[in-house]
Amino acid sequence: MQESILPRSTIGIFGGGQLGRMASIAAKRMGYRVIVLDPTPDCPAGQVADDEITAPYDDIEAAKKLANQCHVVTSEFENVPAETLEAIESIVPVRPSSRVLRVAQNRIAEKNFLAQNGFPVPKFRPILSSDDLKEAIKEISCPAILKTATGGYDGKGQRKIERKEDAERAWASLGHAECVLEEFVFLEREVSVIVARNLKGEEAVYPVAENTHSNHILDTSVMPAPIDAQLAKRAQELAMAIARALDVVGLLCVEMFVSADGRLLVNELAPRPHNSGHQTFDAAVTSQFEQLIRAICNLPLGSTELYRPVAIANLLGDLWQIGEPNWLAALEMPDVKLHLYGKAEARPGRKMGHLTATGKTPDEALQKVISARKRLLALE
Ligand code: AMP
Repeated sequence: MQESILPRSTIGIFGGGQLGRMASIAAKRMGYRVIVLDPTPDCPAGQVADDEITAPYDDIEAAKKLANQCHVVTSEFENVPAETLEAIESIVPVRPSSRVLRVAQNRIAEKNFLAQNGFPVPKFRPILSSDDLKEAIKEISCPAILKTATGGYDGKGQRKIERKEDAERAWASLGHAECVLEEFVFLEREVSVIVARNLKGEEAVYPVAENTHSNHILDTSVMPAPIDAQLAKRAQELAMAIARALDVVGLLCVEMFVSADGRLLVNELAPRPHNSGHQTFDAAVTSQFEQLIRAICNLPLGSTELYRPVAIANLLGDLWQIGEPNWLAALEMPDVKLHLYGKAEARPGRKMGHLTATGKTPDEALQKVISARKRLLALE
């Protein structure tokens, strides 16, 4: 029988951004203590945690200091070096484990894992040499997308290749880093599913979210996705099967493509809370953040039911370029909630916060949140 880690215990979080912040809020609400490790002092999660260790993620001594003060440790993003987590796994339970992060932090390992386990992915080839690239372009044909195996997010480290003559130049522009070449998928829509698993293997799955992106960064997300019930069930079952195959303890978000030719394909795995699950903070019986705490502490999982259809719109630093956004104008809409992450500097492209709106239908929630965001730019 695996023990539960009960309230008043201490939870360690690698990464002090908005995901760690919202997870800290959920943990604090349930009576846990939280310690965050992040390279930047006064990080968003550090502002709400009980304690903050300021150190780079590859600082093994700092990681051990965190481990020695905690009953369980988790990560808010998948690029914490797996070696750091491995170094503390003998001191404290790390959930999800370094093994899960190792798969999710390298696109080649991730796609190999998915393909070898029979999960549907876009056609892909690992690219380690110019010969690999020539062969892969022949097999996959153009258009194709070249992505660095590590370190890419929000569209960074990606090049679309329209003609095979451009492939070598695209790879050079990525510094000849280890890459994958992927078929370009003509998208009908992008969806994602968040699954929670505790140590006992109990599972909970959230409704499917439908996501839109702007400049490769998530722009809006609506839950439940307005798709047919059968497709939604397939997406949820696929996400649960992947979480099981990976033996995730914690959360797993599975980002998927619905292609114009009707395929459901896995794009990416994120073993942590996800931007497309922020809706659950205001509109689900159990938010993804509380569910993370329940899963890693081996508590019973909470209901994933939504009270109402819900949508979020991200607030990027660009919104601040002409001055402070008009918060009052947005909050005049009574179904709208404001979340700001406590980041001091509003840089273009930086996620500063989000708005949430509920509605009678997913579309109504989405339209509401989009108009609330427009109001932020209204002159007073
Ligand atoms: P990623 O960093 O892999 O999540 O990609 C960021 C965004 O780029 C995705 O959300 C898609 O909008 C787009 N994208 C990535 N891979 C592909 C692909 N193979 N085909 C079409 N669009 C893609």
